[in-house]
Amino acid sequence: MNSSKCRLNQVYFSKDLKEGVIEYARENYPNEIILLLKGRLEKGSAYVESFVIPPLSRGGRTRAVFNMNLLPPDRSIIGSIHSHPSGVALPSKEDLLYGLGPVIMIIGLPAEIRAFDKDGNELKVNFI
Ligand SMILES: [Zn+2]
Repeated sequence: MNSSKCRLNQVYFSKDLKEGVIEYARENYPNEIILLLKGRLEKGSAYVESFVIPPLSRGGRTRAVFNMNLLPPDRSIIGSIHSHPSGVALPSKEDLLYGLGPVIMIIGLPAEIRAFDKDGNELKVNFI
C-alpha cells in the first residue's frame, strides 16, 4: 500500500453499506459512531467492501475513540468512517491527524456521506 505513489481520487461504496451505516449512525445519535473500512485500493480508487467494529469503541458526544493497539495488523483496512451528529460532514483537524488508513469518510446526519484523503482533499464517492 503506497498512497504517495498513487493519489486517491475516488471511493466506491455500495448502496447497502450506505444504508447500513447511516442506520447505525442514526440509532446511536446523538453519540458519534466509528467503523473501520475494509476493502482494497487500486489505481487511485478505494473500494469499500465491509465494515469492522473497532475494539473497545466508545461513542461520545464529541468523539468516538478506540484503542488502535488492540487492532490486529490487517492490510485490508483502508480507513475509517465516523459520524458527525452535528450534521456537518467535513473533517476536523483531529480527523485528519488521527485518521487510520488513507480514506477518511464522514457521515453528516441525517444522510450525507463524504470522503477525504489524509490531506483533507475531498474524494468523489460513487454509490454503486
Ligand atoms: Zn470527525
